[in-house]
Amino acid sequence: MEITFIGATRTVTGSMHLFEYKRQKFLIECGLYQGHRAESERINRTFPFKPREVRCVILSHAHLDHSGNLPTLVKKNFKGDIYCTPATGDIAELLLLDSAHLHEHDIAYFNKKQKKAGLPTKEPLYTVSDAEEAIRYFRSINYHNQFEPVEDVFVTFYDAGHILGSAQILIEFDGKRVLFSGDLGRKNMPIIKDPEIIRDIDYLILESTYGNRIHSSVEQMTDELKSIVIEGREKKSKIIIPAFAVERTQVLITMLKQLYEDGVLNDIPIYVDSPLATSVTEVFVRHPECFDKETYSRFIKEEPFDFPGITYIKDQERSKELNHKSGPMIIISASGMCEGGRVLHHLIHSIESENNIIILTGFQASGTLGRKLLDGYKEVFIFDTKFTVRAKVYFMAGLSAHADSNDLVEFVDSIKNSRLKKVYLIHGEITEAVALKDKIQALGIPVEIPECMARVEL
Ligand SMILES: [Zn+2]
Ligand SMILES: [Zn+2]
Repeated sequence: MEITFIGATRTVTGSMHLFEYKRQKFLIECGLYQGHRAESERINRTFPFKPREVRCVILSHAHLDHSGNLPTLVKKNFKGDIYCTPATGDIAELLLLDSAHLHEHDIAYFNKKQKKAGLPTKEPLYTVSDAEEAIRYFRSINYHNQFEPVEDVFVTFYDAGHILGSAQILIEFDGKRVLFSGDLGRKNMPIIKDPEIIRDIDYLILESTYGNRIHSSVEQMTDELKSIVIEGREKKSKIIIPAFAVERTQVLITMLKQLYEDGVLNDIPIYVDSPLATSVTEVFVRHPECFDKETYSRFIKEEPFDFPGITYIKDQERSKELNHKSGPMIIISASGMCEGGRVLHHLIHSIESENNIIILTGFQASGTLGRKLLDGYKEVFIFDTKFTVRAKVYFMAGLSAHADSNDLVEFVDSIKNSRLKKVYLIHGEITEAVALKDKIQALGIPVEIPECMARVEL
């Protein structure tokens, strides 16, 4: 088997790896590279192989950095199956359509400016109809059901514990076993099952997003959320929580439901103001097979993401009404890094009052509004208007859906035996990957951090 590491090499986004066995090519993932505009354009618009020659794609989970360039692949003549778990298929459908809308919207804005300046216009990376076409190629395979995507290669999905439907991908051929971790989650996170441990592996391809960082525990996070909510209730705050639509929003809802049942919320209303997060939450309810024991036993008795006081908003008018309501209230809205979406309107209406609270709930990339709030900027621009930041900003980093450094080392340690020959580290900035490499090598296992387009023969 020959593997070419194409994307998410020494970086986090754009996950894509080409496998070739007995002249049959297949891809593990086809993610969107998210970086500076010109660079992203160049990387996402071209593939270093002929899409027509690729027999199929196998997807670890729905996040766009793993699935988001599938419509371009299909647009460029890929005709094979796209294998994933049923929940991944359902979430990817929502995310790809949303992404296509954004690409169309962005390019329309860009082209308007270009035309005015007499400069050439561009086509979007892909359109809604390209995304719809890609969705037609999806094939659902349940966890633990082995399938044969190309001749003599056998693949099985195992729980990765990262987001609903996320999978580790076990690839078997010629008596060899290669495990692709996908994005790996953490133990004891609410809702989904923990990452599974698969033994007797020859080669491990492992993510390294947080190869050098340690998260706080879920229990610490619940306590932190509780004290912020109590503070907000006393100050009659609008508590704005920018949150990713998949998993982060549902985890927050689960935590708030617990606080409601403990009587901490009293009558503070909660609004989930995001059409995408609302649709994704509906997908969660359709996939109880992905729930951990605790969530499943709740699920058979009651709605896990519903309780008195929580309102899901899809309609734009109802979203606008929130601007004129006074606190205390909690608004969960996308996007998670405050880069777009309805959360911007809520920030405009709340950021300048010292009574209000903003809770950042995850990784904030440099250059984003979320990062500026995290870094304590006193003035920020939203839609070209300057705002003074008077609201109090909290950061709950421990809600991450990724394993931290200790989790990753423990994961390797628990699958390690004499059979494990090498670990390849992907999906991490170089500093994180190098730190993790040192820790894994201390276990006595050789580690490599492949560069973009590095080829290995297994
Ligand atoms: Zn992910
Ligand atoms: Zn990822």
